[in-house]
Amino acid sequence: IQQAAESLHVLNNFAQKFFTEQLLQTEEGQSHALTYLEERGYDEKIITHFQLGYNPQSRNAFATAALQNQFNKEVLLKSGLLVERNPASSAGREELFDNYRGRIIFPIHNNTGKIIGFGARVIGKADRAPKYINTPENEIYIKSKILYGSYFARHSIDKNNECLLVEGYTDVISLHQAGIDNVVASGGTSLTTDQLRIVKKYTNNLTIIYDGDAAGVKAAMRGLDMALEEGLNVKLVLIPDNEDPDSYVKKVGADAFKSFIAANKKDFILFQLDVLLKEAGDDITKKKEAVNQVAESLSKLNRAEDFTRRQAYIHECAAALKI
Ligand code: ATP
Ligand code: MN
Ligand code: MN
Ligand code: MN
Repeated sequence: IQQAAESLHVLNNFAQKFFTEQLLQTEEGQSHALTYLEERGYDEKIITHFQLGYNPQSRNAFATAALQNQFNKEVLLKSGLLVERNPASSAGREELFDNYRGRIIFPIHNNTGKIIGFGARVIGKADRAPKYINTPENEIYIKSKILYGSYFARHSIDKNNECLLVEGYTDVISLHQAGIDNVVASGGTSLTTDQLRIVKKYTNNLTIIYDGDAAGVKAAMRGLDMALEEGLNVKLVLIPDNEDPDSYVKKVGADAFKSFIAANKKDFILFQLDVLLKEAGDDITKKKEAVNQVAESLSKLNRAEDFTRRQAYIHECAAALKI
């Protein structure tokens, strides 16, 4: 495993350099990909900081470079950078080709700054192809243990004693560019205990900033009990309709964005109670279920140091429920 991991790290490093050079130094990269990133408001400094790149449209631009540099087929396939053409349709020829052709490349780093995988985005509106493709699970890319941006955010999380959690790569990058750099992304999947433990290494205070749509709220709720079990203080901010942190910070600017976060930060347990009670309306059975669910969440606050907090919540929830 150690050896496979090491080969993958070396390959990913090589790939990142290749993709960045394609983005910044080639005609195709500049006219397709760099222009797109600039139109979205990213400057060259932030593009370089996050080591963004571009995989050319040709079937095998990266494959050719990697094979010339003696990377072996097994590692190349495992990395997800290349895929194999269906042997039946290639008439006996073996052929490897680029998996991310024509896409913008977002390298994903572990906490020590090593590149463990990539996200690859189509340029422009994603009508047909999936908008993002990510590295498949392998020895070093273990999705449940990754928080995008943790390497770039760790000092700031420590200093601010708070970690902001958003959904996407571009949310992290835009917030950094706006000077908000204690931010990581979950990658659009529900949170895992391993991801929360990464946060816990730097701070006890987690602020989840999700889309205000129903999916965003649901995704946030799923993480709550786990976060409480890990002893995290969880706050929630919902971004206004049809925006995400990336689009919203660009729309209103860095200062207004910060004020919005400060003014709309809600305690997560009280938020949950609110949502459940609104859903329940006058329905007694549903109201009872809401009480049970909040009680269940509060029962996760079972560490000795959480005692006072739990008491405070019980009082607030009882008042809200009039029980
Ligand atoms: P952009 O601003 O470039 O459109 P986004 O981050 O706003 O990207 P969302 O659709 O909000 O895109 O998705 C949030 C995150 O979920 C993405 O950053 C990515 O990590 C992940 N994701 C989105 N679509 C896919 C997909 N088809 N396959 C895998 N992961 C995806
Ligand atoms: Mn959404
Ligand atoms: Mn989004
Ligand atoms: Mn977006």
